[in-house]
Amino acid sequence: MEVQVCRYCGAEKTEDYFYDRPGGLSPICIECEQHIYDRLSENKGVGAYIGLFATCAALNVPFWPDKLPLVKDFLEIEDRWCWYNEAIAEEVHGENGLVRGFFDGETNILHIFGTSLSKTDVAKYIQVTQEHEASRPGTREQRERWGVEPLAKGLSWSDKLYDELDRQFENWCGRYRGQVITPQLADSIIKVCRWNAITDFLMREGEYLSAQKVQKMCDDLMASEQMRKKDEKPVENFRYDACVLSLEKAGIMEDEGFKTLDGVKEAFADYFLTARKYKYTGDVLDQVIEDIYNNARMNGDLPPVEELPAELEPHDDFEEFEPEADENEAERMRYAGAVKVVYGEPGGGL
Ligand SMILES: [Zn+2]
Repeated sequence: MEVQVCRYCGAEKTEDYFYDRPGGLSPICIECEQHIYDRLSENKGVGAYIGLFATCAALNVPFWPDKLPLVKDFLEIEDRWCWYNEAIAEEVHGENGLVRGFFDGETNILHIFGTSLSKTDVAKYIQVTQEHEASRPGTREQRERWGVEPLAKGLSWSDKLYDELDRQFENWCGRYRGQVITPQLADSIIKVCRWNAITDFLMREGEYLSAQKVQKMCDDLMASEQMRKKDEKPVENFRYDACVLSLEKAGIMEDEGFKTLDGVKEAFADYFLTARKYKYTGDVLDQVIEDIYNNARMNGDLPPVEELPAELEPHDDFEEFEPEADENEAERMRYAGAVKVVYGEPGGGL
């Protein structure tokens, strides 16, 4: 069975969790469709039907009043959207895979809810809403971002104040160019802008002590969110010229360019190998590599070799190893059975 992701809740569900609609499966799962209905309807009176009509229009489902019970009975039903979809299921599916939609049902709201809903009523409602909207300062977006309650006693909102805060917000965001402004950071920026506006207002009113307190809150927030200029970790501290100078001093660069690989190796040896690095001879290294090599060979069913192939033999180009084995090394090599045995003549004795 095919699965589909619900556009509302994002859950992956099999086909039978979605209703059939004229254009294919509904992009919204049954559970979420029920939530949409619940939001659009009321649990009393005719609101249950208005919600159903609105949901039918939104989700492209025919509204068939003849399928509906009387208000009292309809309100008894818990998941009314699911119930309705099941009630109409058979008639929604026509022949040849046809699925009926909203325009196959009753679409005229006046036929359903009565003709007393007059043109003047609607016009009046629209006019009142528009006037109310026009009398409020700021745009819908500004009111959502900054709120509608007065910022401080005596400081109420105006278009100018909303615009000024928007401008400050943009400035802040500009400082974080190239970074992600997390919701938390956005919240903090909004707070800082609001408090700045309050501080300015209190200063204008001569309320210096209160202004100082608000400014302190603002500073504390900026410090805890690392929003102050000095909190920013500047990358300028890294200086290319200083870096080149150091590398030249170490002998790795020359005339502002890199040396060849061999030159760099030599420079490293001179610069870093002030003392011999290993307290044993190159023979020990040779032995270690030989042991590893022979173990690998034996694991591959090959006989061990007495001597390493030339390409694996180590060369002590930078004199990192002791030139002579000391007592200690000789002792350890013997203990490890790494001393090459020289066979004498039979009966020759030691
Ligand atoms: Zn869903």
